[in-house]
Amino acid sequence: MYDVDHFINGSFEASLSGERISRENPATGASLRAVARGNAADVARAADAAQRAFAVWGRTPAAERSRILLAIAAGIDARLDELARLECEDTGKPLALARALDIPRAAANFRYFATAILHDASESFVTERPVHAINYVLRKPLGVVGCISPWNLPLYLFTWKIAPALASGNCVIAKPSELTPTTATVLCEIARAAGLPPGVLNVVHGLGAEAGQAIVDCPQVRAISFTGGTVTGRRIAARCGERLIPASLELGGKNAAIVCEDADLSVALPEIVRSSFLNQGEICLCSSRILVHRSRMKEFTERFVDAVRAMKVGDPLAAETDLGALVSKAHREKVIAAIERGVADGGVVACGGGVPRGLAPRVAQGAFLEPTVLLGVPAESSCVQEETFGPVVTVHGFDRHRDAVAMANGTRYGLAASVWTRDLSRAHRIAAKLDAGTVWVNCWMLRDLRVPFGGVKDSGIGREGGHEALRFFSDVSNVCIATGEVL
Ligand code: NDP
Repeated sequence: MYDVDHFINGSFEASLSGERISRENPATGASLRAVARGNAADVARAADAAQRAFAVWGRTPAAERSRILLAIAAGIDARLDELARLECEDTGKPLALARALDIPRAAANFRYFATAILHDASESFVTERPVHAINYVLRKPLGVVGCISPWNLPLYLFTWKIAPALASGNCVIAKPSELTPTTATVLCEIARAAGLPPGVLNVVHGLGAEAGQAIVDCPQVRAISFTGGTVTGRRIAARCGERLIPASLELGGKNAAIVCEDADLSVALPEIVRSSFLNQGEICLCSSRILVHRSRMKEFTERFVDAVRAMKVGDPLAAETDLGALVSKAHREKVIAAIERGVADGGVVACGGGVPRGLAPRVAQGAFLEPTVLLGVPAESSCVQEETFGPVVTVHGFDRHRDAVAMANGTRYGLAASVWTRDLSRAHRIAAKLDAGTVWVNCWMLRDLRVPFGGVKDSGIGREGGHEALRFFSDVSNVCIATGEVL
């Protein structure tokens, strides 16, 4: 077990209170870390450091900011094995997944925004009357911003916020989930070694209601970028509204996969298995409701259930593991409760539904759960309506495409959806009617960092990715220069 400290003004420090939160490995139950329990006093120290650092970083040329951020990306690549192991220990996810997805994407986030700022252009407008003038749009960094991220893809989502914030010239106070704080700490070491000046990036660990809330309340903080649950997001939005500071909110999802009558199951089936259970289903973009055209229902369900039964649950360090542990036993209880509600409402467990047997002794006490497929759960069941954020999907039949669209849109969420068909004009017709920030056609989680990313309805406000993120992290002024001549 070792300590995880705050990173304030370029130094690792314990909380002023001296308090710590202990965290165990969710796959083994072993004690893992003693995490600094931050509060408003720690956030105030970070804010002072960030405000001072901004006087220089906010005026540092884009090329220099880019050079440092590229060095951070290279530093992440160089520590890939270590970061992947730490991410696996904190979350319970398979080590191979952390190596292939989480850590490379964290480096890609820095690389993308480091280069995007070198190719940015600003708009200009020519006014003709009553006086000729040229208007141009000037973007300036906001100052100190807050970035708050969840536990499911810790370094991946942490860097997805921090990279555009720093690239735009802001100084950051960030808080990872207290369940998964370790890779954020290594990132601070990497940033320091890459030459990021003290105070530009500050990380305050701790509980959401303490450290997280203190960041949202902090007077120097000029914007909040938050990814997490809808309940927390709503609370943060209310506080940001009071303070009149912008909030970008990436929240929960209850995503539908729509399998049309002409879907190519040789492509769709393995991808829908992946979209349902990757990262133990703990990805906001995971499919959780699979809507299948009635003509393919029997074939799809049989083949899908066979494929899910064949998945390996167990030791995250084993190369053959498909699903590791959930993030905690408390989270596993919530997921099991959702399955029980689905069954109580009339659903049938086609496979999974329980704690796997025969786990290796090293992981016998871990928070594992079998990948679970439920059939026949009514659409109004809370199991179908509410985000589960675990390895559970429900399968439903539909007759007409308009019914599939109505079912897909029939929850309060609107993050993502996928459509599986060989007919691309049909795919377009369906996609255009879906309440979803992202619609994938014949693919899933194919992410281009340039595209706008976010949700509609209760899945959030605002967009991340590409120019959207750079815009969120900047103030905009219009400069109007009268040239005096009427042309
Ligand atoms: P939470 O909303 O519980 O927490 C997210 C982060 O906010 C954590 O760092 C948490 O700290 C912090 N936090 C909690 N309360 C407050 C508060 N009052 N003020 C400020 N910060 C606070 O979500 P989870 O960590 O449980 O993450 C799972 C959720 O994230 C799911 O709903 C999932 O859908 C969503 N998500 C959305 C994504 C998207 O892009 N739309 C992507 C990934 C996940 P602490 O953990 O210490 O409590």
